[in-house]
Amino acid sequence: MFSLVITSVVIFGNLVLLSLMLPMEIVREILVEGCCIAAMLSAPISYFVGLKLLDINVLAEKLEHAVNHDNLTGACTRASFYQRLERIEDQDLVVIVADIDHFKQVNDRYGHKVGDVALRQFTGTLVRNCREDDVVARFGGEEFIILLNGVREDEGVATAQRLCDCVRAKKIYADGHELKITASFGVAAMTSVSQVEEAFQKADLAAYRAKREGRDQVCLYDPEKDGEVVTPQVAA
Ligand code: GH3
Ligand code: MG
Ligand code: MG
Repeated sequence: MFSLVITSVVIFGNLVLLSLMLPMEIVREILVEGCCIAAMLSAPISYFVGLKLLDINVLAEKLEHAVNHDNLTGACTRASFYQRLERIEDQDLVVIVADIDHFKQVNDRYGHKVGDVALRQFTGTLVRNCREDDVVARFGGEEFIILLNGVREDEGVATAQRLCDCVRAKKIYADGHELKITASFGVAAMTSVSQVEEAFQKADLAAYRAKREGRDQVCLYDPEKDGEVVTPQVAA
């Protein structure tokens, strides 16, 4: 298409130039030859340039994806999380902190390769069980932040509980091993994007509480109780 448009423009430009520079009788005589030469020169060149532009476009998209996504898990990076946050309007929002339980033991027992597979599958479970406009970001080694848009506190707790159940239920197959992992979740609600840092701290406190209470469970930050256990779970 690009090649077609450029070739047409060149042929048209060539015609205009000829008619400006030469008398009409001569232009009529060399019209066909002139157009053919212009087309023969411009078509392959514009086709080649078009292909290169296409390559550059694909590369730019890949680069943008690489900058915005963690290369091990495919989750959003911390930087892209904040970029996405800038585009979100003030509304009910929920922040969930998710941290894999005893992940060091997984690495120690099965090796880092298996640990990496577990991390990827954990991320997949989070992403598959969130909506498309929710943001799942890897903030540190085995710690993830999930931002739920237009969601109230009780819905946020239900989502975190669903994620917790799905992580526990998922079998991980890696390097000839079959294993299961669990994670602890902390939930905090906010009503404005400007409260995000505060909400992180609250969700973090709730996640610590979930760890202290035995892991594999969801805790909600309660402003009065500083992280109340919402739904205790029996460890798998
Ligand atoms: P807790 O239940 O208290 O969270 O215990 P934990 O073992 O999960 O937490 P700890 O902070 O002691 O250890 C985190 C581990 O996560 C240690 C590190 O080896 C592992 N880890 C972090 N990033 C990666 C990674 O990219 N790949 C792998 N395989 N392991 C990672
Ligand atoms: Mg952990
Ligand atoms: Mg951790």
